[in-house]
Amino acid sequence: MKNLLFLSILFFPILLFGQDQICGNSLLETLQERELPGYKDVITQTILDAKSSVTYRDGDTLTIPVVIHILYNNDAQNLSDNVINTQMEALNADFLRENENAFETRPIFQDVAGTANIEFKLADIDPNGNSTNGITRTQTSVQSFINIDIAAYFEAIIACGVDLFDPESLAENIECITEFVNLELDLMKSSATGGIEAWDVNRYLNIWVCNMSVDIGGTESPFILGYAYPPVEAPNWPDGTIPEDIEQKDGVVIHYEAIGPNNPSNMTLLGTNDQGRTATHEVGHYLGLRHIWGDGDCTMDDFMDDTPVADSNSQAAGMTCAELHTKDSCTEDDLPDMIENYMDYSVETCYNMFTQDQVDLMRAMLEGPRSSLLEGAVLSAYEDRGDQYSLYPTLTDAKVTIKGDLSIGMILTITDIQGRMVYLGDIDTPSIDLSEYNDGLYIIQLQSDNRNVHTSKVMKF
Ligand SMILES: [Zn+2]
Repeated sequence: MKNLLFLSILFFPILLFGQDQICGNSLLETLQERELPGYKDVITQTILDAKSSVTYRDGDTLTIPVVIHILYNNDAQNLSDNVINTQMEALNADFLRENENAFETRPIFQDVAGTANIEFKLADIDPNGNSTNGITRTQTSVQSFINIDIAAYFEAIIACGVDLFDPESLAENIECITEFVNLELDLMKSSATGGIEAWDVNRYLNIWVCNMSVDIGGTESPFILGYAYPPVEAPNWPDGTIPEDIEQKDGVVIHYEAIGPNNPSNMTLLGTNDQGRTATHEVGHYLGLRHIWGDGDCTMDDFMDDTPVADSNSQAAGMTCAELHTKDSCTEDDLPDMIENYMDYSVETCYNMFTQDQVDLMRAMLEGPRSSLLEGAVLSAYEDRGDQYSLYPTLTDAKVTIKGDLSIGMILTITDIQGRMVYLGDIDTPSIDLSEYNDGLYIIQLQSDNRNVHTSKVMKF
């Protein structure tokens, strides 16, 4: 028996880890459901609520502040600013539909392709109001944040009857597998376990970048490439209260080799997951999207009306996009599987689109459960691109500091969210005091004598 298991360990990695895209979301949701019964229903209800609130098809660019937390145990994991910046460009291109391969969307799907018009900016104010480049770097003694007994994992795969030739089988049996194997996913989110705490999850999209490999017979293979917490709304929880620890865990985690596209350390993922689109996929989850095949057969939906049904993901290492285009797994509709969708698992170079319904849902999430990302005071510095002034909130005393030359005579107006002007006057100190005002969102405008207007949004809370 021992021999048999040993042989199995040698055999499985080829099948399990030779796959292109390994997203940990079904694993995450299974583990969460165990701790918080009803969790999956809360996600579903949050999606349905957001879907029913969609009111538009176009809209202004929505900007999300991002902090990247790099956790490194060796130099290769300590990705350079250049790699992070290139990843941010790739993420923005996909969400603005400025990706170079957008023209490769097949004609049959061009009408439903959507432009999310969402952009991501590295934060330039940290939670203490200090300037930052939006990247934290933390050296850790933790070699991998996937702490799993891999032999027990393979035994569980056998015990649970996973069909190794069916790409869906592992996900379908994940509940059974986690009965046998102890697995904690969020160790990178606490300094007590070698990670780093989130910045305020209501105001920043936190992205942890760390090693999530496992050692199989001396070879390191990524266990998962990424996962993300989906939006959940307070009223949908069974007892009406969101568990407190969601505030410490919300965000996205990405395996360091899957950051791209110009990552010198993407060794095992080169040629497969090297376009930076693990981030696009996981941020899609973070903004409420499900896998395009609905994590099930042709009867399972992803809640989107303009994505074809599919009975499985399109994972296919080594296949060309043209070969993948022949995949049509369900007869319930007349369309082939949409392998170019970021929420499939096909091949990163074949991904090129979100649909309009997916775009609408993500934007509705940014008006609903994730709206605080757009309202937080950290946004003030993003809205002054090309401008000569910056406004920085001081979080402790309800003051906003103006950086820039005030000597040229400025008019300050403060308007509340109902559009009422609550202040109009000259400004002669580099500090605006909001302590007298009620909590809420304010529009602050500075007008210089050359008629340039600088606008910032500040949330007082
Ligand atoms: Zn996924």
